[in-house]
Amino acid sequence: MSAAFTDATATRDAVRSRKAKALEVTAWAIERARRANPRLNAFHEILEAEALEQAEAVDRRIAAGQDPGPLAGVPVAVKDNIATRLGRTTCSSRMLENYRSPFDATCVERLRGAGAIVMGKTNLDEFAMGSSSEHCAWGPVRNPWDDERVPGGSSGGSAAAAAAGLCGVALGSDTGGSIRQPASLCGCVGFKPTYGRISRYGLVAFGSSLDQIGPLTASVRDAALAYSVMAGVDPRDSTSAPAPVEDPLSALDRPIEGLRIGVPSQYLSQANDPDVNACVQASLDRMVKAGATLVPVELPLTDVGISTYYVIAPAEASANLARFDGIRYGFRAKARPGQSLDDLYAESRGQGFGPEVQRRIMLGTYVLSAGYYDAYYGRSLKVRRLIKAEFDRAFETCHVIAGPASPTPAFRMGGLADPLQMYLCDVYTVNTNIAGIPGISVPVGFVPRDGKPLPVGLHLQAPAMADALLLRAAAMVERLHPEAAQRPSG
Ligand code: GLN
Repeated sequence: MSAAFTDATATRDAVRSRKAKALEVTAWAIERARRANPRLNAFHEILEAEALEQAEAVDRRIAAGQDPGPLAGVPVAVKDNIATRLGRTTCSSRMLENYRSPFDATCVERLRGAGAIVMGKTNLDEFAMGSSSEHCAWGPVRNPWDDERVPGGSSGGSAAAAAAGLCGVALGSDTGGSIRQPASLCGCVGFKPTYGRISRYGLVAFGSSLDQIGPLTASVRDAALAYSVMAGVDPRDSTSAPAPVEDPLSALDRPIEGLRIGVPSQYLSQANDPDVNACVQASLDRMVKAGATLVPVELPLTDVGISTYYVIAPAEASANLARFDGIRYGFRAKARPGQSLDDLYAESRGQGFGPEVQRRIMLGTYVLSAGYYDAYYGRSLKVRRLIKAEFDRAFETCHVIAGPASPTPAFRMGGLADPLQMYLCDVYTVNTNIAGIPGISVPVGFVPRDGKPLPVGLHLQAPAMADALLLRAAAMVERLHPEAAQRPSG
């Protein structure tokens, strides 16, 4: 069967023109996912019977001469912190082990309305907290390029599924980089739209002022297609933006004339892996050859982003997670005298929240506590305004800002045991969420590690609501890197 079924646009074209049946596409995707999952652990659940039933309904619509929608027959993998009526919604947490949502998230409802097939729920770091997809109640996700390496996180299951061609579209959520960083580490496109562009209704809240749902796909066109279906105001999410959604598809293949790419001196830092810097630089050089101009810009608050984010996100998380019963101020287990925290975490595992989530709740309640509120949370909100202003200034001289999505390629499982080291993975992605602007990671090459190629993504950011422009710039980058579209074998 043709590999074209892993491409959302080609799949829906085939289904709409009756060259393939939705049922056949879905059965093919399910079979592929089943075969790959014992190794990758990308899916919590593969919803075989439910998916085939949805596919039959799409085929019936087509047979009856009805319009099956712009995503007809496209298998969609949904991150398991996004509510679906089919299957469970566990957030990779023991806390929600058996939770079944009585409703579909708005984005899922819109995808299904467009003919897409919900084929399964993907693995993630518990409650989307993490950068490696190792903090999972039912085992870690593996990178499809190298089993011993992480796929990134927290949308690691979705990134692995999209990169390995197990679905047409995978949904992720991005609070501080959780779509873009795993997309970079797995070698697929990962798009976080402007805050409020896609409804968060049905997304289990992490940091409500930062959270955004977005697609992980094989191509920029597929990301634009999924986005165009999901975006737009939703009366059930009061933070969804009422502005009309600009069509991202019609001009996607038309290069932006005189494209100005802002390159912050802070982004190609010495602290990055040198091979990642070389890959990003080579990509920028190709853009210049193709007619773009590189504009030096300054984002001096880049480094401050991590500390700002790791105050704001845990603060909001601690408030959001208070709804789950049984947490009682973070710990269920009672420490014995002299017992280390790690030991205590290990003991309480399997009962409630895992160690990373407990750490966030502790951090969050601390920075919100009466005596420390002004010093931490209040101050972070001020820095947030400065970060936003810094981007506004930079965008006065350029259309998009470019840099690496992640300072390193995929690291080894267990390689970042220190939580602070793990937090540093997000240095180039958190400020996008802090400022509420859109960002995308596009594969631009590979770096060799242990004899295996590991993908590298170029991160592009654009002003708020310039999502269509961002996708157009990303498509220009993609066209210059045909070799980066390669898929992992196996
Ligand atoms: N890695 C970041 C964190 O752990 C971002 C997570 C996300 O975007 N959901 O908070």
